[in-house]
Amino acid sequence: MKILVLNAGSSSLKYQLIDMENEKVLAKGNCDRIGIENPFCKHKCGDKEQVVIDDREIKNHKDAIKIILELLVDKEQGCLNSMDEIGAVGHRVVASGEYFKEPTLVTDESLERLKLTFELGPLHNPHAYTGVVACREVMPNTPMVLVFDTSFHLTMPEEAYMYNIKYEDYKDFHVRRYGAHGTSHKYVSGAAAEYLGKDIKDLNIITCHLGNGSSISAVKGGKCVDTSMGFTPLAGVCMGTRSGDIDASAVEFLAKKKNMDIYEITYYLNHDCGLKGLSGGYSDFRDLTANVKEGGEKGKRAELALKKFAYDCKKYVGAYMAVLGRVDAIVFTAGISEWNGFIINDILEGLDVYGIEVDKAKNTDSCPVPVKDITGANGKVKLLVIPTNEELVIARETKDVVTK
Ligand code: ADP
Repeated sequence: MKILVLNAGSSSLKYQLIDMENEKVLAKGNCDRIGIENPFCKHKCGDKEQVVIDDREIKNHKDAIKIILELLVDKEQGCLNSMDEIGAVGHRVVASGEYFKEPTLVTDESLERLKLTFELGPLHNPHAYTGVVACREVMPNTPMVLVFDTSFHLTMPEEAYMYNIKYEDYKDFHVRRYGAHGTSHKYVSGAAAEYLGKDIKDLNIITCHLGNGSSISAVKGGKCVDTSMGFTPLAGVCMGTRSGDIDASAVEFLAKKKNMDIYEITYYLNHDCGLKGLSGGYSDFRDLTANVKEGGEKGKRAELALKKFAYDCKKYVGAYMAVLGRVDAIVFTAGISEWNGFIINDILEGLDVYGIEVDKAKNTDSCPVPVKDITGANGKVKLLVIPTNEELVIARETKDVVTK
């Protein structure tokens, strides 16, 4: 079965076509600047050269889907004889709330239910909905599945997901920890079990997704038991531009001092804080490491940002060691982990008393292999760097739902 995975943003639509016989990516690409001027679509099929289509109108997601399907069946650029070869479409949706406990077939009912999640993922879910509706119009006979980033975390026990607020407010307004990056945590914990040759049911794993947005999860027997992001992806460790955890009273205090209303201060916490705020404007690890090398005041601020990032991650790793008891593996994924070995050294420094030891020679600044095993010679906890593959998880879950 061939599965098309779609990830709709406000003005973009990313896609991958995956052959589930061998889990190979047949084609991938991205339509961008949908609904604004100069839209374009990048498309690559197998070993063929990437093509960029920039002479077409892409007024909305429906136009984008039509172009993607045309490209997939194109005699020169494509890799399908006909659209009918697409067995199912998996749609990435960021927030599930408690409305969807698992990947769900697209029906009139589930689409209505999806609208209830808009207030929980206002920046993403309405666009996913638009993408699904548009796709259904273009491919009315193809089964489609909603796959949620947050559903992996819905196995958390109540003591992990509850905030210490009035219970009625949780019940009435659904305010609780939902987490994010669920498909990534699921993929890398599964890939770690496969690499270790163990049944995931027998493993306790801490997964660290460290990218522009970063989150850390405790995974027990393949199920998430806690995660660092919260009601929204603002919580947890220091991130590229997000503050991570902060005392709610400090938010009120800051808003008053900076003369900001509730929306402005929330924007500030999401966009102007984290590594960017600490370092004086640099959210990207490449810039931060360059600034450290350059030295001076800029270098000192970059050092502070990197130190704080590592410290925050260490605290969550420690917390989840306590939550899990025995830890079999710690897995690192996403851009920061894959390209910046030094930060993993910093995060895990001093944890050798717990059997955590990094082989620094193996912990190089690149991740070309499917699994980079950086466990030290005397390490009792396996330390792995594994590039994530969220699209593959979406395709696998889509296949499971439609073949059930
Ligand atoms: P997201 O998908 O959340 O936007 P990524 O997983 O791409 O984020 O991670 C972004 C981070 O990874 C940035 O801090 C960036 O510096 C770092 N990164 C990505 N690629 C490289 C690279 N080739 N060399 C060094 N750092 C990199």
